Amino acid sequence: MKSDPLFFLCICISAVFKGIIFLDILLSFLLLLLRSLLLLLSFLHRQQESSRGLSSAFVEKLARFELSEPVTLRRSDCVVCLDDFRKSDWCRRLPSCGHVFHQKCVDPWFRKARTCPICRARVRLREEDPKQGESFLS
Ligand SMILES: [Zn+2]
Ligand SMILES: [Zn+2]
Repeated sequence: MKSDPLFFLCICISAVFKGIIFLDILLSFLLLLLRSLLLLLSFLHRQQESSRGLSSAFVEKLARFELSEPVTLRRSDCVVCLDDFRKSDWCRRLPSCGHVFHQKCVDPWFRKARTCPICRARVRLREEDPKQGESFLS
């Protein structure tokens, strides 16, 4: 029996189309996989970011001041050690929320967290202003 060339052509075209459709499905599947992988990666990255503390370089840039008078700040003690602020204590004032802590108390905290221990505001850097600490005292 002689095969019909037209029939043969039809088979070929259908095979090609099937191949294209298969490739199409495979490609969209791969793209979907890639996208979910990227999403997962960015999610993991964010998780890691939020669970990790600030870098010591960042902490060093936070405003720091030394108490020049033996003063107990009316507004609060240091919430980390529950102790008063005393003369010649080095303190840090968080630029984002204005809360003040002993430097020796808050620096270890920032190795684990990126937020203020009191109000959980995310710590951001602002132009360092040495006067800020002074104004907190008055
Ligand atoms: Zn303290
Ligand atoms: Zn705060």
